[in-house]
Amino acid sequence: MPAPTDDADVQRIAFAQCVAVQQRTLLTAPLGWALVAWLCWSAVPRDRLLGWLALVLCGWLVCLLLIALIRHQGADIARHARPLLAVPVLEGVCWGAMGPCLMGGDAILNVSLGAILCGVAAINAPLYVVRMQLYFCLCGALWLTLLTGLLRTPAPAQAHLVMPGLALFLALLSFYMHGIGQRVMEGIRLQLANTRLTVQLSEALAAMEHQAATDALTGLPNRRSLDRALAAQLALAEREHRPFTLLMLDLDHFKAVNDTRGHAVGDAVLKAFAQRVQGQLRPSDLCARYGGEEFVVLLSGTAGLLAIDAAERLRRAVADAPLGPGVAITVSVGIATWQAGDDATALLARADAAMYAAKQAGRNRVIAG
Ligand code: GH3
Ligand code: MG
Ligand code: MG
Repeated sequence: MPAPTDDADVQRIAFAQCVAVQQRTLLTAPLGWALVAWLCWSAVPRDRLLGWLALVLCGWLVCLLLIALIRHQGADIARHARPLLAVPVLEGVCWGAMGPCLMGGDAILNVSLGAILCGVAAINAPLYVVRMQLYFCLCGALWLTLLTGLLRTPAPAQAHLVMPGLALFLALLSFYMHGIGQRVMEGIRLQLANTRLTVQLSEALAAMEHQAATDALTGLPNRRSLDRALAAQLALAEREHRPFTLLMLDLDHFKAVNDTRGHAVGDAVLKAFAQRVQGQLRPSDLCARYGGEEFVVLLSGTAGLLAIDAAERLRRAVADAPLGPGVAITVSVGIATWQAGDDATALLARADAAMYAAKQAGRNRVIAG
């Protein structure tokens, strides 16, 4: 069973579609009037023909204005379902008025006009297929106007004969269109479900891609993202000889934090460290969690003294203020600036070696490799 909101959405879409198609179909109505005028030109008194043409023109203009207004206001089913009923009713009355205005003594003309009315009903059927109540209004208005008009005028018997034939045709058409309408609505429902599924799928995919690229604890890019970013930096450096620097950062004596304050505090320190470092970087730089309490920073377009300055700034930012209540911690940093011929492994190895040298030299320091 579809959810009620689904059904409301399907009705809303069907309504908007119906209004749009209605406007397009109305624009072709003058072709039908031309056919009627051509058939009746010499067989019907001119004033009656012109009277009918004036009536349909007025009705047509009102319908067009109403639809334009509804579309302008956003074709909202809750607000416009009732006003829209006026369109098929008006159309039905205008076409049904052909009976009293144009049908008369000429049997062939009467049958031809009856056939045109069947054509009008048939052309309008697919248009209202997603909103059959409008179609029933059109058929009802058409048939009742024809009946009332013919009963009040001294039309000959064969004009009245059109009525049962037309009634049967309209009833059969409505019956079959009703079934088709249900299938079309089912199609809209499936299309809607499909669209929603596609959106959900792409959202889930985006979330998965984000998860696959992010370290769960710190929210920093993970090793996989680092590999990708490093490859891009290397390609740029080789193509444009644009240097960059890789920093390897390792928290000093971090194991002691875990041992003395607990693993949860250790986690909180890692998160605070990630935020502290990121706060010091430019948007074009990248800080990734390399593993455990080791992090890598890529300084884009930076080399030499500028890179040493940046690494010093990071080291100081960590050492100058605790990374949690009572957790004073420092970081050792190894620097490797890209040189022609370097690949990712060589750069990482050089930065790692420099970082270990910093550890050996007493920690809380920066050493360039
Ligand atoms: P050094 O100054 O030589 O780097 O000493 P260290 O204690 O920082 O280095 P060591 O390699 O001995 O210990 C690293 C510690 O980091 C051990 C490990 O439990 C901890 N660690 C790694 N990943 C996590 C994590 O996600 N959360 C927490 N709380 N601890 C972690
Ligand atoms: Mg380590
Ligand atoms: Mg360490």
